[in-house]
Amino acid sequence: MSLLSAAGLRKSFGPTEALRGADFEIDAGEIVAVMGPSGSGKSTLLHCLAGIMPPDDGRVVYRERDLASLSDADRSSLRRSEFGFLFQFGQLVPELSCLENVALPLRLGGTKRKPAEASARTALDRFELGDLAGKRPGEVSGGQGQRVAIARALITTPKVVFADEPTGALDSLNGERVMRLLVAAAKELSTAVVLVTHDVRVAAYSDREVIVRDGRTPERVAVP
Ligand code: ADP
Ligand code: ADP
Repeated sequence: MSLLSAAGLRKSFGPTEALRGADFEIDAGEIVAVMGPSGSGKSTLLHCLAGIMPPDDGRVVYRERDLASLSDADRSSLRRSEFGFLFQFGQLVPELSCLENVALPLRLGGTKRKPAEASARTALDRFELGDLAGKRPGEVSGGQGQRVAIARALITTPKVVFADEPTGALDSLNGERVMRLLVAAAKELSTAVVLVTHDVRVAAYSDREVIVRDGRTPERVAVP
């Protein structure tokens, strides 16, 4: 039984059919790259898998639970406790320090400030980002900010991280650094990663690739 799977997903935005029968599955601890040209439906697939967007048709099943069968409150709480998110940019809260940003998912889950910030401090130190703790996101580089965002995405030790073009705003050197950190941390925590990218060098960090083309997933490619 896979950790997260989807079958027959369809989603339209007005006349645009973003997904027209997409399938997906990922096992615990697996890193799967979702590849395909711009506009092929990758982000829409990710939003459906993460329970952010309901598909028009088809099912998303997480640990044997159909996401559509959960109440909004249960889906939100599932997202908060078991999923992590990583986007291209603009995801750190500018008014908070890097430490407070990393602590935020714990705070939203009800953890008190002191223990939340102690965990965030440990996470930043483990990722060799301790020097950034007191800085605002505007005071750190793009690559540093993305590594802080990884620390934040993993602070709750989620079962799955949804990453949409996490290196899209970085040069290749910083992109590689971010990917090395993401893969090492995810493997250590046995966190699965759904990695949306159009960059083959980023996909090379995955265990397996799924190709999306015109809203369908016809091809599955094993990475040797
Ligand atoms: P990708 O991530 O592969 O670039 P998307 O899933 O973002 O593809 O988009 C697939 C198609 O659906 C595109 O034609 C896009 O313009 C359209 N689309 C995606 N989200 C929306 C939306 N919220 N409203 C209207 N059209 C959308
Ligand atoms: P990416 O493919 O890199 O994730 P997009 O620009 O395709 O970025 O999408 C960014 C956001 O805008 C997504 O939430 C997507 O659903 C939404 N979106 C994409 N295309 C459209 C569109 N044509 N109209 C409205 N919203 C859209």
